[in-house]
Amino acid sequence: MSKAQETCLEIDLKALKHNFEYLKSRLKPETKFLAVVKAFAYGSDASEIAHYMQDLGADYFAVAYVKEGVALRESGITKPIMVLHPQAVSFETLIVNNLEPCLYNAKVLHEFIEVAIAKKHTAYPVHIKFNTGLNRLGFYEKELDAVLSKLKSTTAIKVISILSHLAASEDLTEKEFTLNQIATFKSIAVNFAKNMGYTPMLHICNTSGILNYPEAHFDMVRSGIGLYGFGNSEKENKNVKPIATLKTVISQIHTINKGDSVGYNRAFKTEKEIKTATLPIGHADGIGRQYGQGKGFVVINGKQAPIVGNVCMDMIMVNITDIDCNEGDEVIVFGPHASAENLAAQAHTISYEIITAISQRVKRLILK
Ligand SMILES: *Cc1c(COP(=O)(O)O)cnc(C)c1O
Repeated sequence: MSKAQETCLEIDLKALKHNFEYLKSRLKPETKFLAVVKAFAYGSDASEIAHYMQDLGADYFAVAYVKEGVALRESGITKPIMVLHPQAVSFETLIVNNLEPCLYNAKVLHEFIEVAIAKKHTAYPVHIKFNTGLNRLGFYEKELDAVLSKLKSTTAIKVISILSHLAASEDLTEKEFTLNQIATFKSIAVNFAKNMGYTPMLHICNTSGILNYPEAHFDMVRSGIGLYGFGNSEKENKNVKPIATLKTVISQIHTINKGDSVGYNRAFKTEKEIKTATLPIGHADGIGRQYGQGKGFVVINGKQAPIVGNVCMDMIMVNITDIDCNEGDEVIVFGPHASAENLAAQAHTISYEIITAISQRVKRLILK
């Protein structure tokens, strides 16, 4: 670990390898592994993560949008890349870059086939997404016949896989609902195979699905958050390691006298003398205003320092009254020993949100 001299996000590839190996250990050897690297690999660095995962043996990648897939192709990723939520306007770009769309309703299925025909493709690889209860994207089971006849009407595309997404795989109080999603998915898959004469790959599990529903791994699983070191439960958090550490430094230390205020709108006023440290990280870096007013905290020399007053665009001030520290000292915002999940909980949100929020202004440092 280097000592930070400015705000930076350290990415530990050894931790990534550990997480991948842990998740793989929960699968059958033949189950394929899709690494979800959307949103800059959950706020880390999509190209670095994808290259490392490609070398480790990930079978597939997924991004949300075409633009993210293009960036991976430009960085030299050669493995298949699934685009989870492509927009029709970028279908041509998708094809030119050899990306594979998830098609989720009659409109995009039709529009994609038209573009594939115009570009004179046969058997262009696509994935068909079914809605089994999340009610976000996907064909309904009752639309299956229409999907099948559309698919039979063309040779321009070929269905490589059918997928669905679980709504509450991390929540064991929703087990019955989840098992029902899995059953619906199976029934769709059986009817698909019967009608089309072949079985595409099947996949429904995200990270918590992998961990909680081994019977639903099917041919492939799709993991994001687990790779980045969060298991979505106390038990599983112990088995994975956060790959990212967000560090910053103390720019200036102030003594705030009794009755004085700190920051914009004088949102914090002190009733006794305190010491604060000003840090070069703010809401433009991903620490939202909801972390202000004492909710969020950072760790300095092993001790928690709460955020004082409002979060500024480029800075926060933290209370260091009881912490022995100096200007230039390193500050940890989150990392393996200062859980992003705990910090997120202070603002009533989840690890996914805080890690993906770290803006592109923050320098990424890859530890190999
Ligand atoms: C984001 C996403 C995933 C990854 O989920 P995690 O909980 O991060 O493992 C898997 N599948 C789909 C369709 C997604 O959108």
